[in-house]
Amino acid sequence: MYCPQCLTEYQPDATECVDCQIPLVEGKPMFCPNCEEFITMTDTFCDNCGILLTKSPAEEGPDCENHPDVEAIGGCVICGKPVCEECAREMNGRIFCENDEHLNVHQGFVVAYTTSTDYEAEMIKANLEGAGIHAMIFNQHDHVYFTNMGTLALVNVMVPRAQIEEAEEIIVALLEEEGLGEEEEGEANA
Ligand SMILES: [Zn+2]
Ligand SMILES: [Zn+2]
Ligand SMILES: [Zn+2]
Ligand SMILES: [Zn+2]
Repeated sequence: MYCPQCLTEYQPDATECVDCQIPLVEGKPMFCPNCEEFITMTDTFCDNCGILLTKSPAEEGPDCENHPDVEAIGGCVICGKPVCEECAREMNGRIFCENDEHLNVHQGFVVAYTTSTDYEAEMIKANLEGAGIHAMIFNQHDHVYFTNMGTLALVNVMVPRAQIEEAEEIIVALLEEEGLGEEEEGEANA
């Protein structure tokens, strides 16, 4: 386990950096060669800019979802769809798929919560909508590459920029209630 901020290495059972008080990440932190944001070894695409992160030359990356014989250069930062050079659209140094909506979403919406389970994302969306917040789910599980590879696919719940604070409060309260999110109860000491 490593702290993504100060890069200190911790024991495998540690969860938080004692200096920075932020959650630790698994594996040695690396930084995107394109945008220099923090990334992990398990990422297929940079979460921030969407470029394909090649781990070793031998490892095959995903193919474009529209062109199955063409290698993807990255993934849409909104929906995670793998796209080739021809299909990718770039805006502010980030990669998007051909869906116009995703470009608009990037400008108006922010990620309120990221999970790997559809169920949790749906539950959060339902609660946010109950509170009058227009929530949208973007799911890498929809893309063949992630299902076939058994890669940990992420599900992002996005909300309008103006409602992010309200949304975060609802999510925090909800996770406490459901005992989801951080595994605080007992599991850490098992
Ligand atoms: Zn630290
Ligand atoms: Zn990047
Ligand atoms: Zn997309
Ligand atoms: Zn393509």
